[in-house]
Amino acid sequence: MPGKELLSPCMDCREAEAVFLIRSRHLCRNCYVRFVGHKVLRRTEQYRLRRSAPGTPRGKILLPLSCGLASSVLLHMVYTQMKEQRSRPHAPEGFDLHVLIIDPSSISSSSPPLGEALELLQQRFPLASFTQLPLHAAFELVPDLGGVLPRYAGEGFNKDDASLSPKEHLDAFRASISSNTSAADVDSVLVTRLIVAFAKRNECFGIIWGDSDDRLAAKTLASVAKGRGSSLTWQVSDGMTPFGLEFRFPLRDLFTAELQNYADCFAELTDIIKPDAPLSDNILTKNLSIDQLMLRYVSSQGAKYPGVMSNVTRTANKLQASQLSTNGTRCALCDTLICNSKGVYNQALHDTSPSQLCYACDRSRPGLS
Ligand SMILES: [Zn+2]
Ligand SMILES: [Zn+2]
Repeated sequence: MPGKELLSPCMDCREAEAVFLIRSRHLCRNCYVRFVGHKVLRRTEQYRLRRSAPGTPRGKILLPLSCGLASSVLLHMVYTQMKEQRSRPHAPEGFDLHVLIIDPSSISSSSPPLGEALELLQQRFPLASFTQLPLHAAFELVPDLGGVLPRYAGEGFNKDDASLSPKEHLDAFRASISSNTSAADVDSVLVTRLIVAFAKRNECFGIIWGDSDDRLAAKTLASVAKGRGSSLTWQVSDGMTPFGLEFRFPLRDLFTAELQNYADCFAELTDIIKPDAPLSDNILTKNLSIDQLMLRYVSSQGAKYPGVMSNVTRTANKLQASQLSTNGTRCALCDTLICNSKGVYNQALHDTSPSQLCYACDRSRPGLS
């Protein structure tokens, strides 16, 4: 029986109407989902193929979820793979998936709280486990962190008020930082510290981050501008980190627009995803943090020249860890190793305070940036 006449048949299956154009291929919905899903599958393959020793539990992976587009799509993709794998007899055990949500309203007062999202997520993704924490939970999970904040913020921060709750303590600290770049930088450091500490407490062996290609490009450019270039080997590259955990970025081959098309294919994602507030063009450039500035740049230029942005990310992924000497001292704020190489940064050698800062954290302090 002759098939239905198609106006624009899918270039892969030729059985359905093409609805998406990706990398010069016109694909139907199913083939599109398979195509982008495969890009993530390749990046998580070694996790899926893990076999645990007899009698031991599966290894655990942490997925930090902001309920933005990218991390929600990553959750959906990884979960779909996990479910498919568990339905097959004799398949390797793979991994257990833990999801950590940091309450966005605890990071920015302009973000609404997540409300019912946690229950909804647990219903939709029953094989994964979910935890929600506020950003100030970092003080509980990383007890030394409270002590370093006065060192970072300097005079403007009243450190001695013991009556403050963790939330008030964090609010007071952030209120003392007037520079947008310092505030965004320290927020991202605190978010990473909280996520890493949570992953360790829950014995996860790795963290998978939902950064798309363009986000990674923006992160690369911003890190270099902020003096955090040496952390690119783990901030945007797949592999081991100074924290003793693996970081992976399975969405590194996909652009935001491609993730949006994927999300549009699944009704169960639409009420989970909280769209990012667009960066208004009316905000003066001087009022943007370096991170926002780079994101704006990459979003506008990436749409015109996607290849250039992929190049930034691909190049950063090939970087090797710094060979600068270190005596093993860690930065009290960001927990990375402090380099002692002469002429690069040697203040740490003369600094005997218990809360030493690395070059990037010291440079990012308000008043200096
Ligand atoms: Zn097709
Ligand atoms: Zn640091």
